[in-house]
Amino acid sequence: MSHKTKRTTGVRIVCSPNRLFSYAPHQWGTKQYWDWCERQAAEWCAEFHAFMRDHRSRDPVSMDVERDTETVCSKCGERWEEDIIEGTLCCASCGDPVDVKETTT
Ligand SMILES: [Zn+2]
Repeated sequence: MSHKTKRTTGVRIVCSPNRLFSYAPHQWGTKQYWDWCERQAAEWCAEFHAFMRDHRSRDPVSMDVERDTETVCSKCGERWEEDIIEGTLCCASCGDPVDVKETTT
């Protein structure tokens, strides 16, 4: 028997410099804005790698863990989707019958 369950499906460490995008010379959300942000981020990463190499910079840096969660089937691990097969509620991916008592989310 399978059931719907919430599970971590991705983990990243994200390093964010403070106020990197605060002074964008373009209106937020425009193509020019995002192009500028991409260039700023690439430049900052290059500088950060140089810092890691030579330890000259003392700029404040925050690091965070970002996590993806997804509702998945407890048996096959695929994204949760229900189907009714021959009158029985099943996982649409693996076809295993759903244990309704175990399904909490
Ligand atoms: Zn399944």
